[in-house]
Amino acid sequence: MALTQIETPSSDVARRISILGATGSIGKSTADLIRRNRDRFDVVALTANKSAAELAALAREFDAELAVVADPSAYDALREGLAGSGIEAAAGPDALSAAGGVSADLIVAGIVGAAGLDSTLSAVGQGTLVALANKESLVCAGDLVLAATERSGTRLLPLDSEHNAIFQVFETENAGDVEKLILTASGGPFRTWSRERMAAATPDEAIAHPNWDMGRKISVDSATMMNKGLELIEAAYLFPVGVDDIDVLVHPQSVVHSMVAYVDGSVLAQMGTPDMRVPIAHALAWPARMESPAARLDLAAIGSLEFEEPDHERFPSIALARSALSAGRGATVVLNAANEVAVESFLDGRIGFLEIAETVMRVLDKVDGHEIASLEDFRSLDRESRHVSENLVKSAS
Ligand code: NAD
Ligand code: MG
Repeated sequence: MALTQIETPSSDVARRISILGATGSIGKSTADLIRRNRDRFDVVALTANKSAAELAALAREFDAELAVVADPSAYDALREGLAGSGIEAAAGPDALSAAGGVSADLIVAGIVGAAGLDSTLSAVGQGTLVALANKESLVCAGDLVLAATERSGTRLLPLDSEHNAIFQVFETENAGDVEKLILTASGGPFRTWSRERMAAATPDEAIAHPNWDMGRKISVDSATMMNKGLELIEAAYLFPVGVDDIDVLVHPQSVVHSMVAYVDGSVLAQMGTPDMRVPIAHALAWPARMESPAARLDLAAIGSLEFEEPDHERFPSIALARSALSAGRGATVVLNAANEVAVESFLDGRIGFLEIAETVMRVLDKVDGHEIASLEDFRSLDRESRHVSENLVKSAS
């Protein structure tokens, strides 16, 4: 669908906006932009997993209509935090999913993991414009999300910096003349580490990303480079390009956020300092632009830009994701579930760093996928994959 076919409010009418995962890294960056541009936005719904006090404070600050905690045990604390404010409080998975369906002009999908799928589906099903950070929604159920998006006539605005970059330079009218998408990757904190050193890496070392300040799960994903694997799958759903035409290029400075190569030899890139408020501002104001406080790019100060091929020996996750996407039959659901369990187990000190990718590989071997034609199909495969992953982790620890 052409971008211009979607009705968007003009920039002089306040945009009604919800933030799913408001207390996370993406959520906070979004809140920061709204705080600086209060006249442009009205906040509708805000959600969190269980940080009730933090969520209540945000809801009060932005005078939201609704605040939802996914974890029912946090409901009392949320109600207490909102007492006397007139802001509605709700809790539990159904309330979380419903928060995505509340009428708004734009929803920021900033929940981490497959836990964000239901609310993303509710949002696109409702026909709301979705600024998507929750890449796992596409990895788990890309076909369902795209079908619901198509049915309701809305669209996804990519927030992931690479996909937002591609979105900014992808000429929809010349889609047939795109030769390649080039996803850049920082290489993470272990880019130059030997396998021996990586084997002993601690959670603190893994979450210390050199360029980006992000939540724990995506930080570990960046350290294993599974993040780039998930992004490869995300790109294959977001853009009309086959998986074999999506390359990964390591670029340690995170200045060139990704590129599109065309048949005439032109390569278009989007650049900027590594600050998520740039792609978030792009989506919040789309199709217009708005100010962001991100540091401005000073190429003369940087001097030179570096690029290198990814090392697939030390970082097998990119190839695992590529083959899961090609295999189909829900293999990406298995990949995602195994990765979520393995990352959590690594953060809990139950497995070593290199065992994250090993666990994913072994679970992919053990679990036979099936087509994901419904949310129920996804749930059963996700459940089975998590169960197998947990057992593998238990036998390893
Ligand atoms: P985060 O851990 O900082 O925040 C996650 C948010 O989701 C929090 O508000 C948390 O309360 C909520 N949440 C966690 N588990 C939940 C559950 N089970 N049910 C409901 N809510 C739950 O994560 P983040 O770094 O902000 O990442 C969010 C998403 O954005 C991820 O999919 C990530 O891959 C993607 N992303 C993040 C960045 C970044 O810079 N942080 C960049 C690109 C993409
Ligand atoms: Mg990214």
